[in-house]
Amino acid sequence: MQLYNSATRKKEEFQTHTPGHVEMYTCGPTVYHFAHIGNLRSYIMEDVLEKYLRYAGYDVNRVMNITDVGHLTSDADEGEDKMLKGAKRENKTVMDIARFYTDAFFDDCRKLNIKTPDVVQPATGLIDDYIHIVSTLMEKEYAYFSGGNVYFDTSKLDRYYVFNDHNEEDLAVGVREGVEEDTNKRNKNDFVLWFTKSKFEDQALKWDSPWGEGYPGWHIECSGISMKFNGEYLDLHCGGIDNAFPHHTNEIAQSESYLGHTWCPHWFHVHHLNTNDGKMSKSKGEFLTVSLLEEKGYDPLVYRMFCLQSHYRKGLVFSWDNLDNAVGTFNKLIGRIANLKPGGEVDEAAAQELKDKFKAALDNDLNTALAMTAVYDVLKAKTTDATKLAVLDDFDQVLSLDLLAKAEVKRKEAEKAAAAKSAGGYTILGEGDPAVDTLVMQRYEAKKAKNFAEADRIRDELKAQGIEITDVPGGAKWSRI
Ligand code: AMP
Ligand code: ZN
Repeated sequence: MQLYNSATRKKEEFQTHTPGHVEMYTCGPTVYHFAHIGNLRSYIMEDVLEKYLRYAGYDVNRVMNITDVGHLTSDADEGEDKMLKGAKRENKTVMDIARFYTDAFFDDCRKLNIKTPDVVQPATGLIDDYIHIVSTLMEKEYAYFSGGNVYFDTSKLDRYYVFNDHNEEDLAVGVREGVEEDTNKRNKNDFVLWFTKSKFEDQALKWDSPWGEGYPGWHIECSGISMKFNGEYLDLHCGGIDNAFPHHTNEIAQSESYLGHTWCPHWFHVHHLNTNDGKMSKSKGEFLTVSLLEEKGYDPLVYRMFCLQSHYRKGLVFSWDNLDNAVGTFNKLIGRIANLKPGGEVDEAAAQELKDKFKAALDNDLNTALAMTAVYDVLKAKTTDATKLAVLDDFDQVLSLDLLAKAEVKRKEAEKAAAAKSAGGYTILGEGDPAVDTLVMQRYEAKKAKNFAEADRIRDELKAQGIEITDVPGGAKWSRI
């Protein structure tokens, strides 16, 4: 598989330390609030990547942390602990907040058909491991104690790794807007491994350590959790693009200094979901959640498809209009699948040809937009319905859009509606869309009552929706123009 690697800044053949096996790590959510649909874009695309690797025959061990301590409001080491901020906002304890929003996160994931990683580890559960890593870094003189905190000394590195999309300016933490320089640091890029002194004396969670009572920095949790559950050689590290710097840069610095060898060769970053007025962010107050989509009547899987329609390395603009378009596309797609007749012979050769197209799309830097095109190629293919259904079922192992299950529901509804209507002597033929069927029936009732004006009005209303009705013996047939 060709996959873009932010560490080398090019598309390259994805390789693993152990052939056929992938050790994969994902930066998990900071559980001080609900996840917004931007965060979930990252998790959807990482889910597709994991499922595609499995589909392609790899055995995958996927690990994810839950950030329940140490992530300050700036991604560098300044500001307030995000968890504490959440606890204050809701007048609850930090652990209550963590539990509540962790559950909420996995509820959202379930609704979006995002698989739970093989290992999920809250950061607070592995403090001894971080202390061990920090102690080793102190022994190896990669870390120093200053002003009550332990810092990583970036001047000890041959190279402080910088991902793409960042320039020298971004690295100068002291000059970033709203971020004050920490005078305890020897070098501007140094970062905290262990805090005992933060500006906020009421830090809720503290643990004993050789450097005094305190808590870990944000970056060390991901190195510690990954090394514990993925081992010393990680194959693939994922996160949103904002994690690239400073978080991932610092993970590399501390992990490789601790291990004494290369840690993770391949880095996968998902670009942001934006609104027309900029990046989506939890700290901005009002934000878009899966629950909000549901309240407004959207199926969360429509949002999943919306994400799949574009490439993970491009920014994606969210608007309600864009989502409405996705609803139309999704309904039509399910309608077309519902029209396929189950049962009969599967043509294995034809199926293989269609699967090859799907694989080629995803082998090309996880091009999910082309993989969606491969779905339409199946519908258009000159082969049996049984073959099409079998192939779509196969693709859905990766896409996870519940294509066949939703089509089955639609088919059953249509059959029920048709049976009910034919019992009344009037049959409606069409894609089986209950809203359209109802209008067609109302037109029939109006005609029966000789209310031709109303019957014409309904015909026009359907036409405005792009639907044409043709009267057939014993009923009517409708189709999209
Ligand atoms: P957080 O809960 O803030 O730690 O973020 C969880 C994940 O969402 C991280 O991998 C972030 O990089 C990612 N992320 C944050 N904002 C966005 C966004 N607007 N679009 C896509 N991913 C995002
Ligand atoms: Zn991380």
